[in-house]
Amino acid sequence: MRSLVTLLFLLAFTTRSGVDALDRFVDVNIPQYNCTANNCLGSEGCHCASHITPGGLRPKDTPQFIVITNDDAITVTTMPVIVNIVDKYANRNGCPVPATWYISVNYTDPALVQEVYMKGHEIATHTMNHVTLPGIDEIVGAKLWLNQTARVPLEKIKGFRAPFLVHNLEQRAMLQQNGFTFDSSIPEVYPTPTSPAANQKLWPYSMNFGLPQSCHLGTGPCSLNETLPGLWEFPMWAIQDDTNKVITTMDPPGDLFEAYKREFNRSYTGNRAPLGVYVHAAWLMDPTRADALTNFIRYAIQFENVFFATVSDVISWIKNPVSAEEYAKTRPVSCMKPTDMWFPSGSFCKKVQCVNGNWTEASCDCTCAAEFLSNQPGFCADAKTGACTLPKIFNPNTVAFECPAGSIKRSYSGVAPAAATTTTYVPLPTTPTIPTTTTSPTFATSTLSPTNSTITIPTNVTIVSPAPTPPTPPPQCGHQLMSYVALSMSGSLDGASKYIEATKAVDSMCTTCAMADSTSGNYFMVTLKESTQLREVYVVVGEDIPEAYIFVGESSEMYGMKNPVCANKISLSGGKASKVKCELKGKYVTIATRGMLPLCDMYAVPASAPMENAPTIITNVAAATTTTTKPEGESLVGTTGGSNFQSSSGGGGFTSGGAYIQNGADMALSGDFNKATQALIDKAMQLTGW
Ligand SMILES: [Zn+2]
Repeated sequence: MRSLVTLLFLLAFTTRSGVDALDRFVDVNIPQYNCTANNCLGSEGCHCASHITPGGLRPKDTPQFIVITNDDAITVTTMPVIVNIVDKYANRNGCPVPATWYISVNYTDPALVQEVYMKGHEIATHTMNHVTLPGIDEIVGAKLWLNQTARVPLEKIKGFRAPFLVHNLEQRAMLQQNGFTFDSSIPEVYPTPTSPAANQKLWPYSMNFGLPQSCHLGTGPCSLNETLPGLWEFPMWAIQDDTNKVITTMDPPGDLFEAYKREFNRSYTGNRAPLGVYVHAAWLMDPTRADALTNFIRYAIQFENVFFATVSDVISWIKNPVSAEEYAKTRPVSCMKPTDMWFPSGSFCKKVQCVNGNWTEASCDCTCAAEFLSNQPGFCADAKTGACTLPKIFNPNTVAFECPAGSIKRSYSGVAPAAATTTTYVPLPTTPTIPTTTTSPTFATSTLSPTNSTITIPTNVTIVSPAPTPPTPPPQCGHQLMSYVALSMSGSLDGASKYIEATKAVDSMCTTCAMADSTSGNYFMVTLKESTQLREVYVVVGEDIPEAYIFVGESSEMYGMKNPVCANKISLSGGKASKVKCELKGKYVTIATRGMLPLCDMYAVPASAPMENAPTIITNVAAATTTTTKPEGESLVGTTGGSNFQSSSGGGGFTSGGAYIQNGADMALSGDFNKATQALIDKAMQLTGW
């Protein structure tokens, strides 16, 4: 009986698929959802919400993707649970079976993050501390930690899942503004306008025209007015029984093999929407469940055109859909051995359990107890495992304790022993260059990112006298990472690329700059960890900027430009570090310009910071060209704190207080920040009499 139903469905679907691809591109039965093939161009990374198979492909020619995800911390307990299961199998094209890890930072071991990354798995975020409705510090903090501590390249950290799946509009806006590519937090059930039937579920989509899902059935609100270009939703497809009753979206109770098999069959014989196997490793520690998941992978992988993939693999395919036959010939990111992770020891360091010894990160090695002392008993490293499990034996001929056969023969040279003889993974072709010379740093594009920067920066710009003190390792140009939690920047790049560019400008590489290149005005905003009373803002730009503005305050609206003006119409010299007096309090520090903004560094100094802690790179105070007075007849809000730009002679600032821009940001609501930037700058000038 069931096979007859399946057959009838397939016939029906085959008939449908004869329709022209464009006509059937969108089939969401919501009149207000305005996404169409005409206004949502795949070439611009847009993809409408739809249950129709992408690319006009017939379902039977479409890859059936299965995405395994794990949530929460990666620890020595949780990591092997997933890895041991997926490592048993390979895709039919020879690629490994990857997982996507939504990592919460608390309890996570960065070495294990590196290990799964080097296996081709996807690293995504799940906040710092697994809190409900996290703020930007929790969301972006996790991304920065994964980059700075676990050293996962920023451009590879694309995804987010909300703790407890509790999501809202603000969260998604934060994701989009901070360079994320996808969210995966919204439950999707059938029958609904987006998923009309069990075998016609919603495909992942971009939020260019809002979210048409039936969020009232799930764990948070969503709206058709949420226009978030570049951000995708990778739905949490519910597991539902034969009566359509929703069972769960994660960790299915009962027989999980049967649950996933049922959903797999529905998709595979239907529109081939991806299947989400969404689990927690902690839940899989029950061996019955682990066996059931293993059995499911073995079951599914035998079907033609089935591919286990990461979330990013699937989104890449949707952006450029090819038939399953073609796809089998390609190599998705998860299939390629990463070469873009940087390791202090020069190569991936597969940590061994270091009993009877001490772990040495730099040499990636376990130094065994008394290993190099011939007059003492102790332990030696097993050549097979690298662990210090072989006791030394006494040799009466040499009157010494020696390492037994089967151990790594090492000699003590007064320094740390050499790195382990076997290196599992390849190092980066080029390790980042850390400035060590006493000459001035030069500005160049990053060596970290494989993507070419669009910025043109003079290559031999030097910093004016006195010569800067070279940073001592570790370089301080990054100003201790967590002094900021988020960045945003205007420009022509997409959200993720802009975020990377922005991070380059304040990261630990002192020699990288980012270009905000909107045609009619630009901003760069730093979000501090908490509201901070500032003393100065340091800025290094790559080219002369005749007119810049700095805003500081508590509002993130309009990229911080609704905040009080801290410095007005300052001129900045290319290649020079400029110290700008800025005595306002706030969480958001924004620099805005009328033209291009090639930013190489920006740092807000708290008033509480000792003077001598000023960044060593700063040497120059750019001269103010004009002094200002409080304009007649204007009422300025924010009377505490100077709105000063301090000239090199120490004078020239105006002391009438911060000029608060109350109006002029109206255009922000229209989403046109270029016009809004202009309006704000105009208003600032008007208010302060420039
Ligand atoms: Zn969680």
